[in-house]
Amino acid sequence: MPLHDKFGRAITDLRISITDRCNYKCVYCRTGNEGALYGDLPFEDYLRMARVLVGMGITKIRLTGGEPLLRKGVVDFVRELAKLRPHGVKPSSALGGNGSAEAGPFQSSEPLDIALTTNGHMLAELAQPLKEAGLSRVTVSMDAVDPDRFARITRVPNGYDHVLAGIRAARRAGLWPLKVNCVLMRGFNEDQIIPFGMFAREEGVTVRFIEFMPLEEGRTWAPSTVVTLDEILARMAEYRPLVEIPHARSETARRYRFEDGVGEIGIIAPVSHPFCGHCSRIRITSDGKIRTCLFSVWDHDLHAQMRRGATDEELTEFIQGVVQKKEERHHIGEADFVPASRTMVHIGG
Ligand code: SAM
Repeated sequence: MPLHDKFGRAITDLRISITDRCNYKCVYCRTGNEGALYGDLPFEDYLRMARVLVGMGITKIRLTGGEPLLRKGVVDFVRELAKLRPHGVKPSSALGGNGSAEAGPFQSSEPLDIALTTNGHMLAELAQPLKEAGLSRVTVSMDAVDPDRFARITRVPNGYDHVLAGIRAARRAGLWPLKVNCVLMRGFNEDQIIPFGMFAREEGVTVRFIEFMPLEEGRTWAPSTVVTLDEILARMAEYRPLVEIPHARSETARRYRFEDGVGEIGIIAPVSHPFCGHCSRIRITSDGKIRTCLFSVWDHDLHAQMRRGATDEELTEFIQGVVQKKEERHHIGEADFVPASRTMVHIGG
C-alpha cells in the first residue's frame, strides 16, 4: 500500500529543496535582501531520505530550491536518484492471475519520475547533462516575456536571454513535457497573459499561470494582488478561444488548449480554486525538515533522526507518523489564516 494520510490521500510526490540560496530576487518571493537562512545538506543525506521514501511509495521526485542549479554536483545527484526504482503493487497479470491487483510491494523496472523546477538561468549548459543523468522533465519559472519587465520582477539585469536559452536547450535535450511557470501579481505582470499565450504557441511549451500565494518574504500579499483563474481565462479568451482538457484529479493545474489545436496553457489556482483534497505531496527542506503542507506552521526534523543514528526502519516509522499530521487544507483568505513558518524560497516550491 502506498503511504496514506489520515484523510485517505495517497502520498506519492516528494519535493526536495537542495538549497535555499537563489540568484534571483523575484518580487513575489523575496525582499531582495535576505540570503540563505537554513543552508543545505550533503547530497548523500538527501539520497538516503529519497531512498527511504521511495521504499514507502513515492513515485515522483521534484528537485527545487532556492535555485537547485546553484548546487555543484546536482547532475551526479540526479544520476544517483535515477538508480532508485519505485515500489508498487504487483499487477496480477505479471503473476498469471485474473486481472485483479495483487497486494504487496515490488520493485518496478520503471524508472523514477525525476523533475526539476528552476529559474532557468543556468539551464542552457546543464540541460543535456541532466537529461543524460536521468532527469525526466523540467519546469522553468519565467514571469514575463518582455525582457525589461522580466528584469523588474527578478531584480536581475540580463537574465531573460539566459532563461530563454535554457528553455530552448531543455527542449533540444528532450526534457519533455516542458512547462513554463508564471506567477501573476497584480501591478507587475497581469498584462503578460496574452503575450504568454502567444509564447506557448510559438515555443511549443505549456505555460502555466500560478495564483500568487501568501508565501513571500515581504508579506505584501493581499487578496487584491491575486490574479485569479477566472480573470486569466477571461483575458486569454480575448486573444483566442480555449477548450478545457480533462485532467487527473491529483493534477494541480487545470489545462486548456487553444481551439485551433496549437498551444496549451495551464492555471494553478490554489487561492481561488483550492485542490488540497487531492494533494499527494510532501516536501523536504534544504536543511532536512519534512513539511506536510506549504502552509505548515511547523516542520518535522528528519535530518535530526539521521544524525542520532536512526535505522531506515526507524526513519520509515518517523515519516509514517509525520504524514498522519498532514493538514487537511490551507486557510488562505480566511479569518483564522496563520502565515506559514517559512517563506517559499526556504521551503522549496
Ligand atoms: N528557483 C526555482 C524557480 O525559480 O523555479 C525553484 C524555486 S521557486 C521558490 C519555485 C516556484 O515557486 C517558482 O515557480 C516560483 O515562481 C513559485 N513561487 C515563489 N513564490 C511564490 C508565491 N508567493 N506564490 C506562488 N508561487 C510562488
